[in-house]
Amino acid sequence: MKKIISFAIAAVMLFTLCFTVASCNKDDNVLVMATNAAFPPYEYVEGDKFVGIDVEIATAIAEKLGMELQIEDVEFGSIIGGVVEGKYDMGMAGMTVTEERKKSVNFSDTYATGIQVIIVKDGSSITSLDDIFEFNSDGDPVALKNPDVKVGVQQDTTGDIYSSSDVTGWGLCDVKEDGTVTKDRVVRYKTGAEAVEALKTDKVDMVIIDNEPAKSFVAANEGIHILEGENEYAIEDYAICVAKENTELLEKINKALKELKEDGTIDKIVGKYIKAN
Ligand code: GLN
Repeated sequence: MKKIISFAIAAVMLFTLCFTVASCNKDDNVLVMATNAAFPPYEYVEGDKFVGIDVEIATAIAEKLGMELQIEDVEFGSIIGGVVEGKYDMGMAGMTVTEERKKSVNFSDTYATGIQVIIVKDGSSITSLDDIFEFNSDGDPVALKNPDVKVGVQQDTTGDIYSSSDVTGWGLCDVKEDGTVTKDRVVRYKTGAEAVEALKTDKVDMVIIDNEPAKSFVAANEGIHILEGENEYAIEDYAICVAKENTELLEKINKALKELKEDGTIDKIVGKYIKAN
């Protein structure tokens, strides 16, 4: 009898322990960062290692927090959901701060700026925004020059969000007032690299993506270029996202970011990957 009771007690203790470990879900000393490591120079894989601006800044933050950084490479569109669920402590992926995303997560202070640019094939008939949109006298887009145009984007990114809106919102889709899309000219890919591949093989006429990855893709692929001049699509701020209730971590991240900005570490990291031109 005694044996059975002690076995039962041991079982209960074991169950409680497992439950506690599962519910606090992670080792307190590990900072889990979700990213999409196909976004050079911010995060990408080199050999068997994650490298890039975000990876190095996150490593420096973890060091300041006395934590060990663990990187999870996931689809861009699942980062915010995973942070909300508590699967990851933070999301850092050249992620733009948007009002919509702010409804789900909190963002740290920004640490970089991104610009949405357009990549086309050399010899493309698209040489500026004027070849994409008809503008009214106020300079607002009112119609598309070519109703059959196709744009490639990385799914769930701001490039996708912008292009998926109506022409009057600088998008390339026909969207009714109730939000119904009557013509979708956006082809959504898992990574920016796949969107660029689609451009090279004429599946799309252009790619809308952040400027630094755009430069990396153009450098790595022949026969494509970024539209220069007054063709910047949108200027954005990059920040780290954290679950709404995790205000303590957010404060620590902001404090670390401030110190890393002030002592020049962030500039040094950025300078290593982005050469001033
Ligand atoms: N800055 C863009 C966004 O936040 C793209 C980020 C990415 O593809 N990693 O949507």
